[in-house]
Amino acid sequence: MIRKAEFVISNSNPGNCPKPDRAEIAFIGRSNVGKSSLINMLTNKKGLAKTSQTPGKTQLINHFLINDQWYLVDLPGYGFAKVNVKVKEGWENMIKTYLTKRENLCGVFILIDSRLEPQKIDLEFLLWCGVNGVPAALIFTKADKLSKTKTEQNVRKFLKKTEEIFEEAPDYFVTSAENQMGKDEVNAFLEELVRE
Ligand code: GDP
Repeated sequence: MIRKAEFVISNSNPGNCPKPDRAEIAFIGRSNVGKSSLINMLTNKKGLAKTSQTPGKTQLINHFLINDQWYLVDLPGYGFAKVNVKVKEGWENMIKTYLTKRENLCGVFILIDSRLEPQKIDLEFLLWCGVNGVPAALIFTKADKLSKTKTEQNVRKFLKKTEEIFEEAPDYFVTSAENQMGKDEVNAFLEELVRE
C-alpha cells in the first residue's frame, strides 16, 4: 500500500538524481500512454504526476519518495510524433544513461496501451532493456477502453512478440486508471521489488 507520496526533485541530468541510498523503480512509456494517470492511481494522489505533457517541453526525470522508503521515478515518455532529432537524441542519452548507471534501480515498468496492436517502438525499448540488463515488467494501460476479449487479445499478441525476444515472458499487469483495475496487483509487486 502506498500511504505517502511526495515529490522530491526533477532534473534533466541523471547525475543530479538524489543519493542512491534506497530502492528505486521507474515508469516509462509512449507519450499519452496513461503514465501520469497510472502513477496518480497507484499513489492515491490525483495531481502528483502531471498528466498530458506537451511535446517539446523540457524532458525531466521526476523523483517521488514513497512511504519514506523508496523512490518512484516518472521518466519522460518516448514516441512523440513531432520532436526533432536533437530532442530525440537528448531523450535517448538521458534515459539510457539513467537506466544503465542508476545503481539503486530495481526495475523499470514499461507502459503499453492495451488498445493497440503490438507497437515496434515498445518492443524495441523492451529489447534494449533486455540487452542492457535492465529488469523490465509491463503494464498494459486503459483496459477499460475496449472489451475484455479485445484487450486480452492485444495483451496476448504483445506477449507473443516478447517470446521472440526472451526465453521467459516478462511480468505483466493489466490496468485501468479509470476503474482502478490492476492497482492492488501492481502495488503488491512494487512492495516485493523494494523489499528485495
Ligand atoms: P501520459 O502522457 O502517459 O502521462 O498520459 P496521461 O496520464 O496524461 O493520459 C493521457 C490521456 O489518456 C488522458 O486524457 C487520460 O485521461 C487518458 N487515460 C489515462 N489512463 C486512462 C485509463 O486507464 N482509462 C481511460 N479511459 N483513459 C485514460
